[in-house]
Amino acid sequence: MIPRTWKQGFQLLFNVLLAMAGPAVLAYIITTHIMPSMGKWNSRVATVIILGGYTIAITLMLRRDMPRSLRQKLLEIGVPVCIARGYDLRGSTANAERCPECGKGIDPRAASALSLR
Ligand SMILES: [Zn+2]
Repeated sequence: MIPRTWKQGFQLLFNVLLAMAGPAVLAYIITTHIMPSMGKWNSRVATVIILGGYTIAITLMLRRDMPRSLRQKLLEIGVPVCIARGYDLRGSTANAERCPECGKGIDPRAASALSLR
């Protein structure tokens, strides 16, 4: 979740703005164009849509980023795992170049952890 480069920082900012504006725009479209007018209930329905949208957006953002940051921490403490999928590379040979599960290149930190064993 913590951005390490300017690009990651801008991506995080864009995602947060999208997550904030998305439910509000969706609630506006639903209450003004799709749903029949229900007087004072329009704003209440909009509030429910916005709060539900925020809950879904925050949950998706946390669920998407949490496994990756956990894998980063594992690599930092010397546990060789695939950064893409989290496959445990401890059974791999020291000169392995690709993850046996997904085929992605092995992170240099995982490679050095494998060669130290
Ligand atoms: Zn993998």
